[in-house]
Amino acid sequence: MSAYLVGGMVRDLLLGRKNLDMDITVEGDGMTFARHLADQHGAGLKIFDRFATAFLVFPDGFKLDVATARRESYARPTALPTVKPSSIKDDLYRRDFTINALAICLNASRFGELVDSYGGQRDLERKVIRVLHDRSFEDDPTRVFRAIRFEQRFGFHIEEHTLTLLKAAAASDLVRRLSGPRLRNEVMRLLSEQSATRTIRRLAEFDLLRFLHTDLSLTPQLAGLLVGVGKSLAWWTKRFPRRPVDRALVYFMGILDGLSASGTDAVAKRLALPGEQANKLRLVKEHLAPALRSLARRRTAKPSETYRALVNLPNEGLVLLIAKARSKGIARLVSTYLTTHQLVKPSLDGTDLKALGLKPGPVYKKILDRLLEARLNGEAKTKADERELAKKLAKG
Ligand code: ATP
Ligand code: MG
Repeated sequence: MSAYLVGGMVRDLLLGRKNLDMDITVEGDGMTFARHLADQHGAGLKIFDRFATAFLVFPDGFKLDVATARRESYARPTALPTVKPSSIKDDLYRRDFTINALAICLNASRFGELVDSYGGQRDLERKVIRVLHDRSFEDDPTRVFRAIRFEQRFGFHIEEHTLTLLKAAAASDLVRRLSGPRLRNEVMRLLSEQSATRTIRRLAEFDLLRFLHTDLSLTPQLAGLLVGVGKSLAWWTKRFPRRPVDRALVYFMGILDGLSASGTDAVAKRLALPGEQANKLRLVKEHLAPALRSLARRRTAKPSETYRALVNLPNEGLVLLIAKARSKGIARLVSTYLTTHQLVKPSLDGTDLKALGLKPGPVYKKILDRLLEARLNGEAKTKADERELAKKLAKG
């Protein structure tokens, strides 16, 4: 069998860019090849029969995808393709752009030989994104988003004819037919790019934001906010390197900033967002505006007030809040909240309240909340202070 390194890693090797996602395509039976490879190296192996692809994890953690070289045909636009084993040349033909349709042979006798059937190397040199054939975007409209991703990441330009095809695809209803997970995956990958602000601008230029929600467009207000998000993310990453945030989700929240709560829910549903992300969106929609108002109103907020304003926001919401506030003072409040307020807890818990002879019930939560406030504001400094206060609160 012949085995080839394919796709993004070949492109990035030629560009001199780091890439650790290794894809191997095998002419013949990729699954047999994968089993042998896994046996020889004691690697974990998972085989997806339907697509003739395998996933290997080596003992040192290195990961590898193996596929059988294949030809694809699309029964109808946007449907998942039917697959037949074939040559490397056919396999490269089903790829999105010429720069991603390069392979390097790994067999000893041909080791290092570049397979470039569609002019990928020339396009890399000319910095061009080009589809392999005219039906490409119809076969798979995710390529509309992928074109923007590579254009912006590498500073390439979309070749003229490809651009005409892309515009036609973007103006049509093709993207609407994509499943939620496929659309979400491409959008989030776009927003994970270092150049997210520019990629969003590009999405808007092709009027693609409408596929998230018909009310969305790039207003001057949104453009300003996105610049703020970039700065806020940079600040956060420097200030809190060990509190990672989902960068793509922050940009996403920014894009949806002008939408109503029901609009936001509709977007979450359209993209079939995982529960955790959908939940964060909902929290931000509900709590960000009141938090901002509350912080802006009080120049000398009590710690407990800052705490209450921010406690319901996920970290991504805090980053967005700072971007929207455009105020050093509020960034400072958020900092203090994260480094001190968030760590404060009352010393007493339910068991202690019981030991004090207080009757269990909903009142416990009220008392504990009030104890936390007292701690935050320095009104209670010791456990004894808290006991006193708890007794007073219980009496009413
Ligand atoms: P990145 O560096 O962002 O991961 P990549 O080129 O590796 O870019 P992947 O999505 O990881 O992109 O896909 C790996 C390869 O699979 C691509 O280089 C391309 O050859 C092929 N490919 C991926 N998605 C598509 C698609 N929608 N249509 C055609 N070919 C695709
Ligand atoms: Mg990749």
